[in-house]
Amino acid sequence: MSEYKLTDIKGIGPALAEKLKEAGFLTVESIAIAPARLLADTLGVSEEKAAKIAQSARQLLGIKFITAEDYYERRLKVSYISTGCRALDDVLGGGIETQAVTEFVGEFGAGKTQLCHQLAVMVQLPVDKGGLSGKAVYIDTEGTFRPERIIQIAQYRGIEPREALKNIIYARAYNSDHQMLLVNEVMRLISSSENVKLLVVDSLVSHFRAEYPGRENLAARQQKLNKHVHQLLQIADIYDIAVVVTNQVISDPEAFIGNPLKPAGGNIVAHGCTYRIWLRKGKDNKRMARIFDSPKHPEQEVVFRITQEGVVDI
Ligand code: ADP
Ligand code: MG
Repeated sequence: MSEYKLTDIKGIGPALAEKLKEAGFLTVESIAIAPARLLADTLGVSEEKAAKIAQSARQLLGIKFITAEDYYERRLKVSYISTGCRALDDVLGGGIETQAVTEFVGEFGAGKTQLCHQLAVMVQLPVDKGGLSGKAVYIDTEGTFRPERIIQIAQYRGIEPREALKNIIYARAYNSDHQMLLVNEVMRLISSSENVKLLVVDSLVSHFRAEYPGRENLAARQQKLNKHVHQLLQIADIYDIAVVVTNQVISDPEAFIGNPLKPAGGNIVAHGCTYRIWLRKGKDNKRMARIFDSPKHPEQEVVFRITQEGVVDI
């Protein structure tokens, strides 16, 4: 996005710039939002010095306090990606928002991955058809991305299938470190003027849960996950793109009444995601979607269907 080089940051010479690049910090933006402690570790400098470096990166980019009016102007620029399904768009208040992280949570087979495929196609449509004429970056942690599905959905939406595939930048994340590195790489992609309007992470927490099992690892896992989720939020915010993540459900041993399931990732994910949608499986390929914990939507449940053509209305 910005044309600044790392060496434009006060305190960063060619040698430190090289160190930053090796660690995956490729843009001034990535420095601006990095936690000071992480920068300090990477550069081998004090945390105080690291904080100053991050601060001068922010100055360079002009990230500072703004008035509520400016913020309102910015909010007016929020754009929406249609899900291609009216019921789902309704429940979301118009579609998937840019400048926000939207989470789809549900049991295995609920349709989370299908929705990710759908959105990776929908974002490519022109604005008058519900898209943003943009590209998608797709980070796949479970190996469930299927180009064949993209072809089917694209055909139904009137996009040339090969074009649709070209506009999806795909990476398989093999572990949580890799997943975080890929997100750094996304910043580089976005800043090098690729017209990315959607970032998908399917699924957000599966690697973290597998690599940090049990209560004894919980604190370490949540700390790392926190960093990851914040980076996603900041990408959404700084670059005005929509971030969509999926999440698993786990059983809640403390639930005596009501829903015995809850989203994985605890408070970190709950607080990090702007909008949370719970997906459930019904009969005849029907699916139910309900938005919960939203700062602006009423709680309501809608029904949709998954078909060969993707996610559609009943
Ligand atoms: P998860 O929530 O675990 O990511 P998925 O998004 O992978 O679930 O959903 C899988 C479900 O999507 C399948 O069980 C099936 O019902 C439906 N589905 C997948 N592909 C097709 C298709 N080509 N036609 C119709 N339904 C499909
Ligand atoms: Mg899935």
